[in-house]
Amino acid sequence: MPGTVPDPTLDPAEAPDTATPARAKTAPGSGKPSSAAARLAKMGLRRSVDLVLHLPMRYEDETSLMPVAEAIRRAGLGQPAQVEGEVVSNEVTFRPRRQLVVKIADDTGELTLRFLNFYGSQTRQMAEGVRLRVRGEVRGGFFGAEMVHPTVRPVAPGEALPDRLTPVYPATAGISQAYLRKAIGGALSRTPMPETLPRPVLDGPLARLKLRPLSDCLRLLHTPPPQESEAALADRSHPAWQRIKLDELLAQQISLRRAHAARREKNAPTMPRREGGLLTSFLAVLPFRLTGAQQRVVEEIAADMTAPHPMHRLLQGDVGSGKTIVAALAACQAIDAGYQAALMAPTEILAEQHFRKLSAWLEPLGVPVVWLAGSLKAREKREAVARVESGEAKLVIGTHALIQDTVRFARLGLSVVDEQHRFGVAQRLALRGKAGAAAGPEPASDTVPHQLMMSATPIPRTLAMTYYADLDVSVIDELPPGRTPIVTRLVNDARRDEVIERVHHAAAEGRQVYWVCPLIEESEALQLQTAVETYETLVAALPDLRVGLVHGRLPPAEKAAVMDDFSANRLQVLVATTVIEVGVDVPNASLMVIEHAERFGLAQLHQLRGRVGRGSAESVCLLMYQAPLSPTARERLATMRETTDGFEIARRDLEIRGPGEFLGARQSGEAMLRFADLQTDAWLVEYAQAAAEMMLERFPDAVETHLSRWLGGREHYLKA
Ligand code: ADP
Ligand code: MG
Repeated sequence: MPGTVPDPTLDPAEAPDTATPARAKTAPGSGKPSSAAARLAKMGLRRSVDLVLHLPMRYEDETSLMPVAEAIRRAGLGQPAQVEGEVVSNEVTFRPRRQLVVKIADDTGELTLRFLNFYGSQTRQMAEGVRLRVRGEVRGGFFGAEMVHPTVRPVAPGEALPDRLTPVYPATAGISQAYLRKAIGGALSRTPMPETLPRPVLDGPLARLKLRPLSDCLRLLHTPPPQESEAALADRSHPAWQRIKLDELLAQQISLRRAHAARREKNAPTMPRREGGLLTSFLAVLPFRLTGAQQRVVEEIAADMTAPHPMHRLLQGDVGSGKTIVAALAACQAIDAGYQAALMAPTEILAEQHFRKLSAWLEPLGVPVVWLAGSLKAREKREAVARVESGEAKLVIGTHALIQDTVRFARLGLSVVDEQHRFGVAQRLALRGKAGAAAGPEPASDTVPHQLMMSATPIPRTLAMTYYADLDVSVIDELPPGRTPIVTRLVNDARRDEVIERVHHAAAEGRQVYWVCPLIEESEALQLQTAVETYETLVAALPDLRVGLVHGRLPPAEKAAVMDDFSANRLQVLVATTVIEVGVDVPNASLMVIEHAERFGLAQLHQLRGRVGRGSAESVCLLMYQAPLSPTARERLATMRETTDGFEIARRDLEIRGPGEFLGARQSGEAMLRFADLQTDAWLVEYAQAAAEMMLERFPDAVETHLSRWLGGREHYLKA
């Protein structure tokens, strides 16, 4: 195999030493593991089986040689060529900079090899007369055809070519391919990979996939014979890859299900619905009727909270579908049962708005609602924390401040996380961990609160099945009545004057306007400056209107005052940064201008646009852009113009960005997938699910071996 021959690209300090990484691990007494073994461990390659499952990202075909003349003829085609020849000259030149120039020749011609960085040992290795096997791309250089930094290897005349494609593995700095190939090759030969899938699973739910034995697939992927389709290997559509992906997805499905089941084992306070309690009086004062969809999800949540196990539910509903009220009703149920409820939102503006709305609804009914945010003065904060701790506060609303160490709840029974995709796994966990002394009527130490997560970012089905397989999902698929659809237009930045005229017109008709400033990701200071300038321009251009400005750096009290003025229609135009992106609810606002819309992502645009169209007036969203647009920006803006359906937008967003970026903060199931791609391999998920079900039900031993093979200690990602 190729890795066993000395490789000049291999730094001697990292050459494989006596201890293979697997042995270094299993026999810790035998001395310090080599630095390369430590690096392997850092990559998660600790056990032999980890090495076996470390699969190539691509291949190089070193199974044949090309005559030098032919390689030169193909120069510039961007394809690598492998040639062999004798070194005819070897010199270090200094113009234009220090470099090693080696010329090799075969019967058909001569080729220059150029090295800009090189070791002294390389110069010696490529001495005149040495026979070299060289692989690289031939380019038409200034002095004729040449290869820059090719891979070279001294060979004996007539030395056999490999009969397999050469794998190229994912690696970190300091680990050479040669070392990896050797380590993996060793692991492959000493590690039997017996089938973990029982016959009835292979012949039952997976029958249609006609899976090949795993060990064959691994062998093939590590050392493919040249006749295998390189393309199918490279794009991972080869049947051998399918087998790997299925096994991986299966491990993921099993562990998500187990995490789900483990959660059901925990205790949570039961909160039966009481007639005549807070819930009843709240529904009586509510200024509107719940939509059918809201009623349905309220029932689903209520049933969960009645059970003695923790709810772990995701409430999905498009922007403006009315999730807040659903959360409030759940809080009422918890309070009725004698518990506290907490509602956490990602931004202070949103949290504050929730606080105002919910305290306006609930305080008159005698429910103490407490506000907790980072911006509170020390004394106010101490007071708030004391009310939470004493149990006097029944509903606690706030930002991340809720999960600080100093905050202890007396009897937390329900935690609600709004816009949950904005929080990381750790933060959501922290709020759940706040149960503290959540001693119910019958205190139990392992009691955890019920958890409701809310999100307006709809997750397409296949993603939900993998990322959220351990969650129960409720969907509000209906908007409150009386909304008129939002009309979206794209406007070239050059027509700014017309847009300003339009703002004027809308305000004259008694409507309110949001003007969103461009996102400047590189610099917050610049973003702020732009916001202030935009504000000044608009104040000057619209002298008869009241214009306000809100941004992230404004002191909280001022921020609140501006939002207040806008809510109460004392301001007609609100110039804002993306601080208003989520949740803000001012139904009278019906015109939204977004500057440099091409800089925003689809989800963000959808959220921003969702700030209008909340009342009965016809709403308009103007997306101002600066030409020329990049192809993806064009695609995003076209999507925004064509649809207001959050699910459709999410689907296209996923298409444009891919699942990793789409979900933002790392979600639990994601970390487990290395090979399966949720876009191209989504269809495999259903097979994996069916197989997981059968294995969990009938083959507990196989479940264990399969999980340990694929996850080997990475299951903690699922604890969220
Ligand atoms: P989101 O799901 O985006 O969080 P909100 O909870 O902010 O939506 O609700 C959007 C607006 O719709 C609010 O002004 C809210 O009071 C109103 N609303 C919610 N439910 C209904 C309903 N059933 N009928 C009428 N208006 C409703
Ligand atoms: Mg909301």
